[in-house]
Amino acid sequence: MRVTLPVVVAAVATALSLVAPAAVAGAAPPVTGSARLAAPSAAPATSAAPATPAAPATPGAAGVGDSYFPNAGNGGYDALHYDLAFDYTPGTRAVEATAVIRAKATQGLSRFNLDFDGPAVKRVTVDGRAAAFRREGQELIVTPSRPLGNGREFRVEVAYSGALKGIHDKALGRYGWLPTSDGAVVMSEPDGARSFFPANDHPGDKASYRVRVTVPKGLTVLASGEPQGPESTRGGRTTSVWTIDEPTASYLLTIAIGKFKVKRSRSKGLLNITAVDAAFADEGGLHARTAQVVDWAGKVFGPYPYSSIGGIVEAAGVGYALETQTRPVYDGGVPSTSLIVHEMAHQWFGNSVSPADWRDIWLNEGFATYAEWLWAEQHGGERAQVRFDRYYAAPDDNKLWHKPLPGDPGRDELFAGSVYTRGAMTVHALRMALGDGDFFTLLKQWTSKHAHGVARTADLLALAEQISGRDLDPLFRSWLYTEGKPSLPEARPSM
Ligand SMILES: [Zn+2]
Repeated sequence: MRVTLPVVVAAVATALSLVAPAAVAGAAPPVTGSARLAAPSAAPATSAAPATPAAPATPGAAGVGDSYFPNAGNGGYDALHYDLAFDYTPGTRAVEATAVIRAKATQGLSRFNLDFDGPAVKRVTVDGRAAAFRREGQELIVTPSRPLGNGREFRVEVAYSGALKGIHDKALGRYGWLPTSDGAVVMSEPDGARSFFPANDHPGDKASYRVRVTVPKGLTVLASGEPQGPESTRGGRTTSVWTIDEPTASYLLTIAIGKFKVKRSRSKGLLNITAVDAAFADEGGLHARTAQVVDWAGKVFGPYPYSSIGGIVEAAGVGYALETQTRPVYDGGVPSTSLIVHEMAHQWFGNSVSPADWRDIWLNEGFATYAEWLWAEQHGGERAQVRFDRYYAAPDDNKLWHKPLPGDPGRDELFAGSVYTRGAMTVHALRMALGDGDFFTLLKQWTSKHAHGVARTADLLALAEQISGRDLDPLFRSWLYTEGKPSLPEARPSM
């Protein structure tokens, strides 16, 4: 989530901003005639092909063909594991860092790219041998001393040092590595991982992570996943190691450095670690509420995809929260229950089932927002139908019924209000069409079928049609891709 304000109809009426050329260049989804909602042909290279060492080695692509972020991710390999080490000094923002990436070639590779916008690269090796490298914009282009055969597993090591800084994008704001008054925090959606480590920076290539962070004694380090043993202090500097074994998209890895009040417990087999920046008076029930929300969500969405839960309350000054894996970051204070529900629902919708293309962002935000509606409905609050009706009553000139549309908002409108609100309304329209039985079956099948993977809008349409036996193409088309107020879905005839 990139807004902390409750998403209400009024909040949708923000000024239209210009659509960047990158968004215009993206392939538009089919919205006319009877064409199906087809997946674009350019798919991220995530599956390893069988080894065919005889195939000629060619350069890996500089991007995976994302509609909105053409340079994000890289072709020709599948990243399997990142082992990242940072020695960081908050006062100067200086880092001494090493990134070791284990990857598998998916083509014969004469050279390959990593996405990296961080400080000066000192050295790159591939399988222990020095490799040539150059930088071009956000690309770190690596030429190994000898070509890599298709299917070959290899190990890249990149050493770099200098000052870390985040990304400041005109349309998307500040993200990536964000310095704070007492440390730093990482919130990388959509493509900010490149600000602090060389990555295959697209949700289409998930990997496991080990993160080792050394900071001045007295500061605490948190990250996604679980801590490995107690921290150790030597020569006035403290080192912490965190790992996450489940597949993790690069934009969802977080690290937080600072002075925190930390709470730790175990809840139904899950390690719960919450941390609140010392700037805030108390944790306001975040720890217990997070466990309660995950327990509820597991019943509605299916088994929780990870081994730990939690949350980090920071003073990052960016004005939004982000569903960083296992442990969302909440900026500016203790979150409301609704915001906890939203960010923890993302662990299923967005983190485990990630968008194959950033154009499908509504699959993240529509479902996470709808989770808020469901929580309210099941905890004595407003029924989802009542909330839907309230939004639906918005007049024809309301921003909800006009561009940016949730199914293809454009790169600069990735976090537009309609992606959230009309996205959630689309989920509810689906519920109206399917009836509760099939709808709640759909939620669980969606999260299990695509667990730890990526999916597209067309995949959701196919699954919903398979479960219900109904033609849902018109519903998806009108709610996601067409200007104007969609007609209400035909309720499922009672059986
Ligand atoms: Zn969200």
